Amino acid sequence: MQIVVLGSGCALASKSRGPAGYLVRSMDSVLLMDCGSGTLQRMARSGVVPVDLAGIFISHAHLDHIGDLTAILFMLHLPEQERADDLLIHAGPGMGKILEGLQGVFGEWLTPSGCALHALEHQEGRFEVGELLCEVRPVQHHSSSIGIRVRGADGCTVAYLGDTDLCDEAVELCRGVDLAIMECSLTDDDDRPGHLNPKRIAELARRAKPEGLLISHLYPETAELDIPALLESHGCRIPAAVAFDGMGIAIDPPAH
Ligand SMILES: [Zn+2]
Ligand SMILES: [Zn+2]
Repeated sequence: MQIVVLGSGCALASKSRGPAGYLVRSMDSVLLMDCGSGTLQRMARSGVVPVDLAGIFISHAHLDHIGDLTAILFMLHLPEQERADDLLIHAGPGMGKILEGLQGVFGEWLTPSGCALHALEHQEGRFEVGELLCEVRPVQHHSSSIGIRVRGADGCTVAYLGDTDLCDEAVELCRGVDLAIMECSLTDDDDRPGHLNPKRIAELARRAKPEGLLISHLYPETAELDIPALLESHGCRIPAAVAFDGMGIAIDPPAH
């Protein structure tokens, strides 16, 4: 399994970090997780176009996570992007209404060529995207927020929480995974609810015990921090890497 970071930033524009977007690439299936603005182009840079996607997961309906959805659907409308399989967008409550609204404004230009488009709203549950087995649970950030845990056919597991506060569901999604992708929007002296800071990440990791951490969704203040050192100072011994746009991470199948 391979993870590609398309955007390691947030809603605040930065020279080097675009808003949220990630690819999970398994042998036969590619899952797009979130699509903030610029995702379409950064996806193309890593050799993936929308017709290649087995499905799309949206963590929540904030624009730094869905800004490029219209651009992706518009590209899929072009005849040369015709796809055989229906395109499913897996998201939390409210996605159907958003899609309906966008299609109400843009009409047929957002209808994929050759296939149907469906928004599947989940609170909690399991589904398959190609060969990827997915499990979602609600997390604490926005009324539409869900996090996801993905298992590849090779047994590799990754969790992506979108934006969230520390909560039991986030712990369950990350429990024992090979890689947990966690946001770091806040500094340790900022304890506003709805996001993670290094202290909360360390606590989440202590409870969930993932094999590795990928820290992303960085704001200018948190991008300047040495987050792995801070996690260590909070007693977290799990290897942690800080995401950057274009970063690729190979996850090897478990030995057992
Ligand atoms: Zn966000
Ligand atoms: Zn958000």
